Amino acid sequence: MKEELLKDPVFGMAAEQFDRVADFLELSQRVRERCKWPKRLITVSLPVTMDDGRTEVFFGYRVQHHLSRGPVKGGLRFHPKVNVGEVAALAMWMNWKCALMGLPYGGGKGGITCNPREMSMGEQERLTRRFAQEICPFIGPEIDVMAPDVGTTAQHMAWILDTYSTREGRFVPEIITGKPVELQGSEGRTQATGHGVAFLATRALNKLSVPVIGASAIVQGFGNVGSYAVETMSSYGMKVRGVSDVTGAVWNLEGLDALALRAYVAEHGGVKGFPGGEEIDPDEMLLQECDVLVPAALERVITAEIAPKLKCKVLAEGANGPTTPEADAIMEERGDIFLIPDVLCNAGGVTVSYFEWVQNLQRFSWTKQEVLSKLETKLNEAFENLLLFCGERKCDHRLGALATGVETVAKVKQTRGLFP
Ligand code: NAD
Repeated sequence: MKEELLKDPVFGMAAEQFDRVADFLELSQRVRERCKWPKRLITVSLPVTMDDGRTEVFFGYRVQHHLSRGPVKGGLRFHPKVNVGEVAALAMWMNWKCALMGLPYGGGKGGITCNPREMSMGEQERLTRRFAQEICPFIGPEIDVMAPDVGTTAQHMAWILDTYSTREGRFVPEIITGKPVELQGSEGRTQATGHGVAFLATRALNKLSVPVIGASAIVQGFGNVGSYAVETMSSYGMKVRGVSDVTGAVWNLEGLDALALRAYVAEHGGVKGFPGGEEIDPDEMLLQECDVLVPAALERVITAEIAPKLKCKVLAEGANGPTTPEADAIMEERGDIFLIPDVLCNAGGVTVSYFEWVQNLQRFSWTKQEVLSKLETKLNEAFENLLLFCGERKCDHRLGALATGVETVAKVKQTRGLFP
């Protein structure tokens, strides 16, 4: 299994990052081995009746990296390229993220290999419910709590909640986060990840003494994370010049109108053709001069090929794993880009998911303002701690962020000991 996992380029990248951190922390072989490999890799086959009467079998995965610090937490992804290696890598990153943010969770991730863009809502509902049913024996509010990720929304979470609750014979809102507010989802959860990305980008600009008002930004991806990063940065007075998604890219030197863009995408399914900007090549867009560059789509987009050509001051990683280790090395050598690594930059999502779970367990709800202000406090604390750690231990931001998370998990493994 280890060999199989390492063959996947995304898991290989997560493993390589982990090895670098383990060397840096001088972890013993015993603890290193236990921290690196996932506890549970669950694969389920999912027969679904399609709209044309055919039965199609999809494959779904859930990886629970470790349960040493609490239940696992992590999103569920619908994408044609999902495979077990990618899901395992994302689960491993979730570990370090939860530990870095001081959340009482281990890392988990799930995915179904499918193309939601080519499926009707009915087909997506049947697929989601079938997955929930198959995965029910392995999840629970104290075991594994899912949330949305690429290709899934609050609606998918509502179907999982309904399937699980029907099986239990009672309403169990704490089984899932990122659900609609009327089902006891948290105020502020939808915008939390993008809001956090934008908030941390301003903290980095402050450190570089670049004024936030008028600062320029470019965002790859206009889904949940990207769209709220664009909206929040615009609300701070920043100019978001370029935005791309799977359909294409739009550009406006004076800044795109975030709300008009959201309305356009809701109607047309993508940013291509947005009248408030000009068309630009999506790859070229990433290389334009800007203060903040936000990759908020998929992993491994900042490669060794483009890293030397980037013209941004801050790289705020909204997506998980957008930068390859080779590109990291190049940026480290350049030394002129302030990196906000993914495990911190997009931690707003899991942090508000944690707030949602806590509210559900207490049957009590907080206002949006309370949620976002608690989120900013937590992100700011983690950001300052990271800069302190990197200063004291003389390391780059990626290494510092991962090392903080890994060290926390390693200590827990060590203290709990190995049974039997
Ligand atoms: P989403 O499905 O809502 O949006 C993904 C966006 O990326 C879409 O706009 C899509 O068109 C775009 N995209 C896909 N391929 C692209 C390409 N080749 N070029 C440009 N754009 C492309 O997904 P999301 O929830 O916004 O997640 C985006 C990233 O953020 C993922 O890496 C995810 O793991 C990470 N993340 C999400 C959350 C969350 O709360 N949703 C939290 C933490 C991290």
